[in-house]
Amino acid sequence: MSIVDTPERRQLRELTRAFVTREVLPHLDEWERAGEVPRGLHATAAKLGLLGIGFPESVGGSGGDLLDSILVTEELIRSGGSSGLVAALFTHGIALPHMVAASGARTGGSLGGRLGAASTAGDDDLIERYVRPTLAGTMIGALAITEPDGGSDVAGIRTTARRDGDHYVVNGSKTYITSGHRADFVTTAVCTDFPGSGQLSLLVIDKGSTGFTVGRRLEKLGWHCSDTAELSFVDVRVPVGNRIGAENTGFLAIMQHFAAERLSLATQAYATAQRCVELAVRWCRDRETFGRPLASRQLVRHRLAEMHTRAEAARSYVHAVAVRVAAGEPVVTEVAMAKNVAVAACDHVVDQALQLHGGFGYLRDAEVERHYRDARILGIGGGTTEIMNEIIAKGMGL
Ligand SMILES: Cc1cc2nc3c(=O)[nH]c(=O)nc-3n(C[C@H](O)[C@H](O)[C@H](O)COP(=O)(O)OP(=O)(O)OC[C@H]3O[C@@H](n4cnc5c(N)ncnc54)[C@H](O)[C@@H]3O)c2cc1C
Repeated sequence: MSIVDTPERRQLRELTRAFVTREVLPHLDEWERAGEVPRGLHATAAKLGLLGIGFPESVGGSGGDLLDSILVTEELIRSGGSSGLVAALFTHGIALPHMVAASGARTGGSLGGRLGAASTAGDDDLIERYVRPTLAGTMIGALAITEPDGGSDVAGIRTTARRDGDHYVVNGSKTYITSGHRADFVTTAVCTDFPGSGQLSLLVIDKGSTGFTVGRRLEKLGWHCSDTAELSFVDVRVPVGNRIGAENTGFLAIMQHFAAERLSLATQAYATAQRCVELAVRWCRDRETFGRPLASRQLVRHRLAEMHTRAEAARSYVHAVAVRVAAGEPVVTEVAMAKNVAVAACDHVVDQALQLHGGFGYLRDAEVERHYRDARILGIGGGTTEIMNEIIAKGMGL
């Protein structure tokens, strides 16, 4: 079953391509230098209905499911955008789903339903205060799980939230947080028992809360248009109403929504590979060495053929797994395999595509140079390649 074969999805692809051509390509280099994308881009994407894809209309989304989200992500990159752009503009894809699920609505890609026994007035309130404005492009959200002491061991989180009347008092720090500088609120994983106990909850923490500091802007190898922050919490008082779902359901919520994040990263990987194949083919047709186009040489043609094969195989597998996730199948192992397969294909293709560009491939002027740098995070974020292998090994009964 192909996920692109409907007239609606072809329209969505065209809409995304037009958005990138008109609103992104003329400015992307400037945003890479500035270290962030402008707020106005969120509003523009929201007006077109792109920000809300995969979120139900009942919470301010545009409808559609995980497969539509994947299609938008794929097209954002294939039409000349980048995985850094996806990270910056679609951070809400990881910041909001827990709130939406807790309210009883369902986003594409969650492997479970509502958390806790029932949605509360507080959960509905979070939809109004954070989800709707974010999907309308007037607020920006971030998700903070990773801490300086470690990101792979989610249960080992040490940021604490101690209950004090109608508030939690939060202490700790987070790092590598995408959109952390621009975010108006941060969906934050906290430990609601002793540090490292694994008893996690998710709190929505407003920027500007006393004791909440956004630290230095982290400089990175790639994803330059995506701002990345360190966050510090010192005795930050957060209303109990800002807790998502029931207390101590945070770990389950994080795990359930990892599926969509990992499939998004897998999509970014195969789409980056596809884009780099296109760039390399174009270059090899035009570039002449020793009196002939590069593409006329069998060695080069076979190299391009192999790159294309790897990108297409990854795409097919990611789509097949996404269809199963969208159908509600518990395919945690397959999601991990999809991420690793797509990342491996991408790593190979970006390296080969840059090599085929020769010296030009190493220059900032070359689009392939940006993809080469941007691609390196895809096997680290959302669970590393090694952590995916742990999941796969468990799935094998090892
Ligand atoms: C640009 C960028 C954006 C990010 N955005 C966000 C964000 O928005 N929100 C957020 O919460 N986090 C974010 N992260 C953090 C990211 O999810 C973590 O970096 C990642 O999960 C790995 O955690 P770590 O860096 O602490 O590495 P560690 O957990 O310290 O791991 C270090 C190395 O050891 C390996 N390893 C760890 N445990 C094992 C094991 N049991 N067996 C074998 N190998 C193991 C890992 O695979 C890795 O290679 C971002 C990171 C970057 C760089």
